[in-house]
Amino acid sequence: MTEQQTPYIRCHDLFKIYKLADLEVVALRGLDLEVMQGEFMAIVGASGSGKTTLLNILAALDTPSAGQAGVGIRDLLNMTEKERVEFRRREVGFVWQSPSRNLLPYLTALENVRVPMSIVGIPFGEQQDRAWELLSLVGLEEKTHRLPHQLSGGEQQRVAISVALANRPPLLLADEPTGELDTATADQVLKALQETCRTLGVTIVIVSHYPGVARFADRVVQIRDGRIVAESVMEATYRQSGEMAREEYLIVDRAGRLQLPRESVEKLGLVGRTRLAVQEDGVVIRPRERKR
Ligand code: ADP
Ligand code: MG
Repeated sequence: MTEQQTPYIRCHDLFKIYKLADLEVVALRGLDLEVMQGEFMAIVGASGSGKTTLLNILAALDTPSAGQAGVGIRDLLNMTEKERVEFRRREVGFVWQSPSRNLLPYLTALENVRVPMSIVGIPFGEQQDRAWELLSLVGLEEKTHRLPHQLSGGEQQRVAISVALANRPPLLLADEPTGELDTATADQVLKALQETCRTLGVTIVIVSHYPGVARFADRVVQIRDGRIVAESVMEATYRQSGEMAREEYLIVDRAGRLQLPRESVEKLGLVGRTRLAVQEDGVVIRPRERKR
């Protein structure tokens, strides 16, 4: 009998309410999310939908207001301040949108990667070896002695990935890490994340506006008004030519609803007049014919 694996990240009915003077902002309203160990998951959603709030909670930078949230053995609603510090130092790595927020400008790439290791007291020789390994993993073995301003934005973000992984955390979180990059450079950063996920078995949750993220992540979930509203998975399929293609599937949610990406709904003009035909090999969606 195969044992059902417990998800590495478990959020159930999660709420985050910010109180401002006499105003309450509900940033997360009953969010459910599970991420398996070693999964590369992307979160997409409009600005203000709660993406950063969720990542900050998963990084133990912020505390939920109600519900359940767990990462590995940790319960994010019941942690002491000491446990939070320990968690942030060793159990999670974070990459921010702005390269300048991720790196110290007066330290080389290698020195930047060593900083988190020196904080937890790793011996110098090991720091050097591990920093070099991590920079090689993201394809920067020839640029380890450059300062951040001598690197492109994409290269700086790849250094930031190495910094985030310095203390070998099992989880890597990234909030719009490609937000300030062009398409080609964004692809390099996502490729580096994908490589990291596969080689080191790190679980990755990334927030991104970049549509190309679906080609790299195992799964894309959409968040709207503080809840997950749609999910899709990319699966590798091998064509006859031996070439690998990625196909996207939509997932039926727990309530049995099928959510289409907003672009498809708009493009096909489906709102309020859609016909579904369930067939043996799938579901056909057609706009309903107009009455004459
Ligand atoms: P996203 O990252 O998807 O753009 P956020 O998680 O930053 O969204 O914000 C979700 C909602 O919570 C927004 O309405 C935002 O204004 C509000 N919010 C975020 N952080 C705070 C805060 N520290 N205080 C008050 N409201 C906040
Ligand atoms: Mg945000």
